[in-house]
Formats: sequence, structure tokens, C-alpha cells
Amino acid sequence: MIIFGTRGVKTTKAKGQFNCPQCETNRDYRHRKVTQFFTLYFIPLIPLGNKGEYVECGHCKGTFILRVINNQPSGDKQAFMAMYEKAIRHVMVKIMLADGIIDEKEKVAVLQIINKFGHNDMTAAELDVYIKEVEKDNSDISTYLKHVGPSLNEHGKEVLIKCALAVAFSDGHFDDSEKEMILNMSKIMEMSSAHYKGILSEFIENMN
Ligand SMILES: [Zn+2]
Repeated sequence: MIIFGTRGVKTTKAKGQFNCPQCETNRDYRHRKVTQFFTLYFIPLIPLGNKGEYVECGHCKGTFILRVINNQPSGDKQAFMAMYEKAIRHVMVKIMLADGIIDEKEKVAVLQIINKFGHNDMTAAELDVYIKEVEKDNSDISTYLKHVGPSLNEHGKEVLIKCALAVAFSDGHFDDSEKEMILNMSKIMEMSSAHYKGILSEFIENMN
């Protein structure tokens, strides 16, 4: 008699430190993945697919959705803020460059946004230098945004989308390239498409 079946096999994809929601302090975690296997005589032979991923606290053994990894250990808050500033600068300049034309009004809007959220005031001359840097490298809009976007709360995500729309609209028209880039932003930040569409239509309504 041949005994076959299926079984979930757990593997560790990553380890690190997070702020455990249950322990309410910094703990080690394991990012676990469960893969369903076809088994023969109880030996997992053929992977059948991903059954899910979760985060496990090394201390209380509580399991959580992946999002909790973004609960930064408190010491990392500064690093997070630095990355957030980088992301804003980078994304806004990317959107300004999206339609291939650098408009003066766009520049003013970008500078205002960068200085509103940043700790160091940027001058117009510094912005020009930075724009040249971004033009030269082939970095993608997700470069910095992917590190901070998904961990922002809904309001934080909304703020970034609205800033991006303000830059895109500042030259008086909303190009397809800009539209596509901002939609892409919402995806990188893991926003629901309903939420994104809501912000967009509200923004356009206020413009008219
Ligand atoms: Zn815990």
C-alpha cells in the first residue's frame, strides 16, 4: 500500500528585530513561510504552493501578519525618518521628471513639499543639483519608497499621494506618465485601489 498525502512545511525566510505587539517591546522574530508539499510515506517530495507567511515572536511565540515587521524597533525610528525624507525627495523629483519637462512651477511645488517634511531646508540651487543626480541614475520610483511606504498608516499614505498630485498638477496638466507613476506609488505603498481612486477624484474635484 502506498501512503501519500500533503503536509505544510515551515521554513524561516528571515530573522530580525521587531516591536512585538503582544510583548510590547523589542524582540527577535522569525519570518516564517508555510509551503504545502505532496508527501509519499510522510516524506515531503513535491512543493505544491505557498500556504502563507507570518511573523513569529521569539519570546511569546505569538504569530502576526507580516506587516508587524514594520513596527520598527525604537532605535530605528531615526533611520526610518531619514529614509522617509529620502523617499519624499526622490519620489517628488521623479514625478516632476515624469513628463520630460522641468517646469518652474513644479520646482517650486517640489521644494515646498521637501522643506515641509524634511529637517534640513533645501535651497533652489541644491534642488537643481539633486534633480541632475536623479536624472542621471536609473533608479526606480520604488527605490526608497518601498522601505517606508507600506509601513505608513492610511493618512500617511494619503499625504504622500496628495503631495505627488500637487507636483503633477502644478504645471497645469496631468500627463499619462504622471498618472501612471502616482498609481504605481499607491501600489508600492500597498494602498487599496479604492482608496487611491477616492483621493484622486477628490483632488480633481477640488482643482475644478
Ligand atoms: Zn512577543
